[in-house]
Amino acid sequence: MDHHSTTSSSPSDNLMAAILSHPPRSFSSLISSLSTDHRFIRSRLAFLLLSPPHFSFALARLHSLSLCQKSLLLARLLLHYLNLLLLSPSPSHRLRLLDFDAAILLMAMCDSYSPNTSPSPVNWHSIITTHLLSSLLSPSGLGSTSWPVVSHYVDTAAKCRRFLHVVSGGTVKSVGEMATSSAAVVSLPSVESQGESGDCVVCKEEMETGRDVCELPCGHRFHWSCALQWLGRKNTCPCCRFELPTEDVYGEMGRLWRKLMRMGGG
Ligand SMILES: [Zn+2]
Ligand SMILES: [Zn+2]
Repeated sequence: MDHHSTTSSSPSDNLMAAILSHPPRSFSSLISSLSTDHRFIRSRLAFLLLSPPHFSFALARLHSLSLCQKSLLLARLLLHYLNLLLLSPSPSHRLRLLDFDAAILLMAMCDSYSPNTSPSPVNWHSIITTHLLSSLLSPSGLGSTSWPVVSHYVDTAAKCRRFLHVVSGGTVKSVGEMATSSAAVVSLPSVESQGESGDCVVCKEEMETGRDVCELPCGHRFHWSCALQWLGRKNTCPCCRFELPTEDVYGEMGRLWRKLMRMGGG
């Protein structure tokens, strides 16, 4: 029994509030990217179901994965959802098509599985097909308005919280305890320190005028060498704990989740 769902605002409500907080222009591009993605996922799943060799291949691939690898695959798909909802310009941890197929099949298995109806051995093809057909005949499947598609993404992304909670036993490192992703580090801007920059918080030494220092997205500045050393171990600003992208899939899920929750005022 889940007693957590009785709290005042649900994660889905917060997520909905977060995406409604996008300015109108971004909001319409969000709607169009969600609709495109939704059609793409549907068509990949339909392709797998209609092509027995591809279906068997994806299923065999899933069976060959360990539980850890399966949860990592699901995490990367959920990360894809979070990136879409945040309109991230360069989505992190993009899945290759082969992994993407396996991930959507795994998600479809999770969505359509019900312990009391399935016989043993489980006929995944028939279970997923039945589930897909019934969802195709739902408002989001018929594509009458964009809202059902939006709420489908919100509901799926809302699984992240529970997912992070389940895998948190040892797999998920705490905030700031992961290295910053190298892509995020190389994209940090270099600025010339202007006399009043003050001391570098990492080494406590002054940042001399005219020397290049690096600036984090939160606006805090450090010596380049100090920043590189720090960000090689942590993904938070040493001054304000602003979170930077990380290479860790679960860490990234947590970071984007918190970002959406803040946007939604939760
Ligand atoms: Zn320094
Ligand atoms: Zn900062």
